Amino acid sequence: MPLRLFNTLTRRIEPFAPLHPAKVTLYTCGPTVWNYAHIGNFRTFVFEDVLRRYLEYSGFAVLHVMNLTDVDDRTIGAANKAGVKLAEHVKPFTQAFFEDRDYLRIEPATHYPAATTHIPAMVALVERLLAKGVAYKGEDGSVYFAIAKFPGYGKLSKVEGRTLKDGARVDSDEYSKEDARDFVLWKAAKPEDEAAGAAWDAPFGRGRPGWHLECSAMSQQYLGETIDIHAGGVDLIFPHHEDEIAQSEAASGKPFARVWMHGEFLQVDGTKMSKRFGNFLTARDLKESGWDAAAIRYLFGQTHYRKQLNFTDDAIKAAATGAQRLAELRRRLAEAASGAAGGNAELGEVATSMETGFRAAMDEDLDVPGALAALMTFVREANAALDAGDVAPAARQSALEAFDRVTGVLQVVPGPARGGADEAWAKGMAEERRLAKATRDFKRADEIRKALLDKGFEVRDTKDGGYEVRRVTPPPTDT
Ligand SMILES: [Zn+2]
Repeated sequence: MPLRLFNTLTRRIEPFAPLHPAKVTLYTCGPTVWNYAHIGNFRTFVFEDVLRRYLEYSGFAVLHVMNLTDVDDRTIGAANKAGVKLAEHVKPFTQAFFEDRDYLRIEPATHYPAATTHIPAMVALVERLLAKGVAYKGEDGSVYFAIAKFPGYGKLSKVEGRTLKDGARVDSDEYSKEDARDFVLWKAAKPEDEAAGAAWDAPFGRGRPGWHLECSAMSQQYLGETIDIHAGGVDLIFPHHEDEIAQSEAASGKPFARVWMHGEFLQVDGTKMSKRFGNFLTARDLKESGWDAAAIRYLFGQTHYRKQLNFTDDAIKAAATGAQRLAELRRRLAEAASGAAGGNAELGEVATSMETGFRAAMDEDLDVPGALAALMTFVREANAALDAGDVAPAARQSALEAFDRVTGVLQVVPGPARGGADEAWAKGMAEERRLAKATRDFKRADEIRKALLDKGFEVRDTKDGGYEVRRVTPPPTDT
């Protein structure tokens, strides 16, 4: 059965096939690095990680881009409040995001373009929209997108934009559906932008990009005009993704993303997370409390990504117990692989049926709760087969391999991460190093070079200003 995914654009579950066979282009909206990302953000990033890993498990190569929003209303506001330049303010939060990503076992993206290092691509996109007559310069000096000139406006969020009065405008990055109107592409520089070092010259006036423009420009630069999957949290459907579609499709005349996927909210103790309610949780809070990332991913996996998830103390404790049972079974399977030989093949049969059940669940719009259920049934059956003894060596080996393949997608087994993501990790780290060098953070660039070497990868700069990364020592043998 082929993979089927829920497409927010059509509100239907549809069979998935990439534009180019065997290669999937995936764009996921990344963090705004004005502060630490909270676990609601990471619920979305983990859902996207499971999507990516399952696509890879299914035989696709995935070209994955996640942007870093390092210039927008919030980052500039936070930098000014702290009395520092934008670049200085976002640096530790960018670094913290990568640390949290590694803690939560999220496979690094192929590219992490930061908005401030891609200004020329954004300027070019605004010029293209101005030339096509779908953008105009307001008397405030900012450039706006005229939604009345783009008939498809509202098709993702089902917001009807054309009924609005001509010239009604909004210049903030975030606004509500009731505020659907011409949105800002390029904001004329204000004193607070200059103070934060967040203004650039452009043919249509000195200023800085609007948040929505960043994703359209960088997505096109790295993935082309039409991408296979664009994902993010449900809160991004409007205005962010609606505006991305308008900008991209008005410029290219082609469909922007073929499939739109959105992860639902996370609540803590039944309420929306908020500093005011004292239930605001970051990934580092969970790490400091001693939770293994596998327990968090197990907890996330118990609720389908399109349903709201409630994060409670009891739920994380129960998830940690479930994850621990998986770790114990893996230990038994690995030990049994070197034990006495028998003729009982049952263990191999229950492993095959587990993997079939896993695939059937995942193929139906990433039903991770169903996949976990198949895995927990396997825990019972495999333990029973091991208790009975006399297990055939081939059955043990195939059971262990099936278990590692499946948990390699879900990453729900405490202890060392498994799943052969080393190469992807190295590529992601090399890209981070390029980013660090572009922002003149040479200390970080050197740390990354050393971290890569520790894992047997060498990164070298090439003459054309790029880099290459290659393995210099064989991968360590897994035990
Ligand atoms: Zn975006």
